[in-house]
Amino acid sequence: MTTTIEIQRVENSKITSVDFDNLPFGSVYSDHMLTCDFKDGAWQTPKIEPFAPISLDPSAKIFHYGQSIFEGMKAYKDKDGNTMLFRPLDNCDRLNKSAERLVIPQIPEDIFMDGLKALLKIDNAWIPKKEGSSLYIRPFMFASGNGFHASPADAYKFIICTAPSGAYFAGKVKVLIEEKYARAANGGVGFAKAGGNYAAQFYPTKLAIEKGYNQVIWTDDNTHQFIEEAGAMNIFVRIENTLITSPTSDRILDGITRKSILQIAADNDIETEVRKISVGEVVAAAKNGSLKEMFGAGTAAVISPIAGFGYKEEDFDLPVLENPFATKLKKLITDIQTNKSEDPYGWRVFVK
Ligand SMILES: *Cc1c(COP(=O)(O)O)cnc(C)c1O
Repeated sequence: MTTTIEIQRVENSKITSVDFDNLPFGSVYSDHMLTCDFKDGAWQTPKIEPFAPISLDPSAKIFHYGQSIFEGMKAYKDKDGNTMLFRPLDNCDRLNKSAERLVIPQIPEDIFMDGLKALLKIDNAWIPKKEGSSLYIRPFMFASGNGFHASPADAYKFIICTAPSGAYFAGKVKVLIEEKYARAANGGVGFAKAGGNYAAQFYPTKLAIEKGYNQVIWTDDNTHQFIEEAGAMNIFVRIENTLITSPTSDRILDGITRKSILQIAADNDIETEVRKISVGEVVAAAKNGSLKEMFGAGTAAVISPIAGFGYKEEDFDLPVLENPFATKLKKLITDIQTNKSEDPYGWRVFVK
């Protein structure tokens, strides 16, 4: 490690107040956070300090113009107490792709990686050991510079917070295929993990929940004829024995879980296709029985199976299978993440 990091430890750890057997998802925070300021055209020395509220000027541009991006990743412990990350450089790359689109400065890879590893070492005791649990990691960057002028800020903050979390279990979800709203448009910011994308999803999702669904299946903004994402996850559809997912684009986030599933499926004799998926095809497949599974894929839940979907006032149930691809793929990927199997791809990164 080469990056200099200023370290200020907590006086009293909060860890004894946390029930590691009953962890929620993402709402209990570890003792420390990593912070790094960008000002006068340069990143300053990163700091590890006690997790605490931060102070911002009311005119900070984050509040007015939404220059804000984030990542979601996890750290795991194996049975021998080793700490592992999963493809963390991909998160760093993606954060910088999001940054470019939102005119936020690039975070150097060594601040991201050395900072994260140092934080995980200091808060090592916060990484849950229980099966299915993990330390959820939230790196984010936003405009802390001031001014009501609608232009990029001159100062930014990069922060990494962590949250020991239990298994993310949403149950089997009922989804509504969206016919009116869109989460992303051509030429827009859908490919970026920009905060505003999620704010824009809340209203259509609220309407879907009022109709009795849990989540929205996003369709393309132009025709609403093609399935693109499931909530804040990538979508997979299994028709007969072929697993299909939409190609990434301006509108579709390039998920690390998605691309890992594509690789693992292909290497485990599951036929995959990356192509546009039309709503008509999914409805027809549901009607003739060839639609076997649908699931969302993302870091938090890994794989989130869909029980059924609604479209144009009609509901369709998916069959209950004995050995769904969802279960098989989830085990294959989490076994790699948690060091229970070989990692032929070199995806695990140990924190030493
Ligand atoms: C984060 C995210 C995903 C999943 O990405 P992972 O890298 O697998 O966590 C998919 N879609 C959207 C819209 C997302 O924000």
